[in-house]
Amino acid sequence: MQNRSPGVIRSGHSPVTDRQLSLLDLPGVAELEDCIRCGLCLSVCPTYRPTRVETKSPRGRIALVKNMVEGGLALDDPNFAHHMDLCLQCMACHSVCPTNVSAGEIVARAKSYLRATSNSSLLARLARNLVYKQLLPSHAKMEAAALPLQLYSRSGLQWLARSSGLLRFLPERARLMEALLPSRISRPLRKRLPETTPAIGDQRAEVVFHLTCVNNVMLAGASGASVRVLAHNGCSVHMAPGAGCCGAPHETAGEMVAARELARRNIAAYEAFGESMVISDAAACGAVMKNYGHWLQGDPVWAERAKRFSARVQDFHQYLVELGPVMPRGEIRRKVTYADPCHLCHAQGIGRQPRSLLKLIPGLQYVELRDATWCCGSAGTYNIEQPAMAETILAEKMDRIRETGARVVTSANPGCLMQIEAGARRYGVPVRVQQVSQLLEESYRKGARSRERKSKT
Ligand code: SF4
Ligand code: SF4
Repeated sequence: MQNRSPGVIRSGHSPVTDRQLSLLDLPGVAELEDCIRCGLCLSVCPTYRPTRVETKSPRGRIALVKNMVEGGLALDDPNFAHHMDLCLQCMACHSVCPTNVSAGEIVARAKSYLRATSNSSLLARLARNLVYKQLLPSHAKMEAAALPLQLYSRSGLQWLARSSGLLRFLPERARLMEALLPSRISRPLRKRLPETTPAIGDQRAEVVFHLTCVNNVMLAGASGASVRVLAHNGCSVHMAPGAGCCGAPHETAGEMVAARELARRNIAAYEAFGESMVISDAAACGAVMKNYGHWLQGDPVWAERAKRFSARVQDFHQYLVELGPVMPRGEIRRKVTYADPCHLCHAQGIGRQPRSLLKLIPGLQYVELRDATWCCGSAGTYNIEQPAMAETILAEKMDRIRETGARVVTSANPGCLMQIEAGARRYGVPVRVQQVSQLLEESYRKGARSRERKSKT
């Protein structure tokens, strides 16, 4: 390990500002003309499928951006912003496009450009500043904000509020946010994990674990399991004290100025761990960190560092399969399915690995989910910002989960896990929502217990 200097960005200033980089985000006409208007992307787009409206399709959005770039549409046209905001940036369209046009990314860049050039109201700016520049970048502030939610969940108040129907008196936004809370919120993982979790048995590798800001406070059990599974597979797992939010929520919201700042902070924090792999168990964070090289390509100071860092980022499932997983021995007799997070299947091309890990567990009955790669409607804060469309998309997903008859649905992204758990409650689908790592850990534990019992007899 090299010297560690938590939280310190060690590179000095960039000669370009983040606002200038955001202005460079606007796609060029030549790039937009790569769309040959074949329409192959229409049927996979979650906002086109239920509406059949061209401007709610990838092809339609590209045409709108082109119109804006060519001056046909005013920058402040509210319809333009609406159609951009309605895109989930799920990247389903990227996976099928014959000319490799990335409509979701084009939308993200158009939004970033709009944010950098538009004058929103003071109140809107303050609210966005609070969420994207104060709260999300700071584990400590997220933990402080989550404290009342922990009390709410653990005191029985949450159960009372949900079962009594009292929540219907809340304003819509607050109701939507409450519905997403997991039914059990435990203490933040950051406060419980040691700086290094030692490898169990012979050490096979040293890795750094990227603790997602949302998992830390909302799904600590899920990421705790990922760290322990890595240790069980012979990895010494380090935490990087200076790292934090990857910038994924900022990218979805078009807040690329703040997103790039977070990227630099993370790059510096992980550089302190030499060439060790950076493992993420959250699809969106992994995808975004693999993309830092692209985000910072116009920055002469950070471009090379970002590229080197991105090459070190690996998804948890991808890493474990490449390492060669220790066989889980404990039986889990449950019917389990897997819902692909968009940022894993479309952004990182990873779908086989989580399934193959599940299939290693003895006794587990794996059942495939129809249209497993369709978005669940979570997409950062999309389910709060665009509740009607998010609900339509979630209802589709829950129908398909019900069809499987599975008792456990697994996924690999905090937004998806919370969205599907909320959907299960709302639509009465009797499933438990977990990460693949939680089932693996359970099987390792059961296997260890049965070995102990045998050795005593
Ligand atoms: S974005 Fe790609 S798939 Fe969609 S219409 Fe254009 S070329 Fe075809
Ligand atoms: S990223 Fe998703 S929502 Fe956006 S245009 Fe593509 S398929 Fe549609």
